[in-house]
Amino acid sequence: MLPRGCAGCGTPDEVLCPACRSLFDDTVIVPSCVPGVPVAACATYRGAVRRAILAWKDHGDEECDRPFSQALCALADRMPVAGVAGGEDDDARRIGGRDTMLIVPAPSSKRSARRRGRRHMRPLVRAVAAAYRARGVPAHAEEALASHTMGGRSVEMKGRAGRAARVGGSGIVVTRPSLVRGRRVILVDDIVTSGATMRACAAALRTAGAQVVACLALAATPRYDVSAM
Ligand SMILES: [Zn+2]
Repeated sequence: MLPRGCAGCGTPDEVLCPACRSLFDDTVIVPSCVPGVPVAACATYRGAVRRAILAWKDHGDEECDRPFSQALCALADRMPVAGVAGGEDDDARRIGGRDTMLIVPAPSSKRSARRRGRRHMRPLVRAVAAAYRARGVPAHAEEALASHTMGGRSVEMKGRAGRAARVGGSGIVVTRPSLVRGRRVILVDDIVTSGATMRACAAALRTAGAQVVACLALAATPRYDVSAM
């Protein structure tokens, strides 16, 4: 094995040293990001957290998949979710609770995915789904969203996908609406900055008939402005 340093601080022979890993044990609540849905992150996006996420996301540090998955699973465990022990059972019944819950990653643009050579969120959403199943909650990971943006602008699309995209003007579309209709969905992203991506993803899923029950992220910046929503 090649020698490596902690993705957060460079400490030798660590993927993510205990001190940096512990920074991902936070519960950062993102207020008013998606109306009516709890939004939380494992950490605040700065310092070692930022360095580790960038190493993983943009520089191919796939060994961070594991600690980041563990952090997200632990956060999911701390979040009250309808239909899950500790969640709101009335809500669970109302939305048809015992059906399989979908763990859906926020989409990367095709260009970003190509540049990275992988879907960096995939191992994380799979881990979260497996963690729910381990708690007796039927769940599976589903890449149900796609991003049709170029240079930050929505690509013009025709037909159903185009209409769905124009609902939020975000370029985020549900690729297979029949798959998410009537399903509980936990949305997962890497970094919440303005909250606009989470909101757009949730709006697209709701338009397709999904019940978004929680939004989770690895990290959140403190930059969002609640009054601007
Ligand atoms: Zn470290």
